[in-house]
Amino acid sequence: MPDDCLFCKIVAGEIPSTSVLDRASVYAFRDIAPAAPVHVLIVPKRHIGDVRDVRSEDGEVLVEMHQAANDIAASEGIAESGYRLIFNVGPDAGQTDFHLHMHLVGGKWLGGVGSG
Ligand code: AMP
Ligand code: ZN
Repeated sequence: MPDDCLFCKIVAGEIPSTSVLDRASVYAFRDIAPAAPVHVLIVPKRHIGDVRDVRSEDGEVLVEMHQAANDIAASEGIAESGYRLIFNVGPDAGQTDFHLHMHLVGGKWLGGVGSG
């Protein structure tokens, strides 16, 4: 784990966050600059760099991240209205944090794929 990883520090409680879900291997918290009424970041507690660093042994935690997304969508009341799950990868996607994270965004009409 890199010493300067923001999301590792959030998982460790060294930097405050607004918790949405806390499980053995997965943590979820509200994005500090929400792009929509619901904007939650879902991260593995163990450091994984980003999608390009994912390996077969990460399969279980990736499933747990998606299960967390399902449960958060339900608890936020947007399971039926819909939402978007996003992994930003690299500069053209505007990736700024290099600890694997899934954005769960919803609570309004989001436009078509690639909007914005
Ligand atoms: P990405 O562009 O996919 O790397 O997304 C990083 C996200 O982390 C952005 O949406 C930021 O608003 C969010 N973010 C940065 N710092 C914090 C923080 N301290 N707490 C919550 N979210 C944060
Ligand atoms: Zn990390």
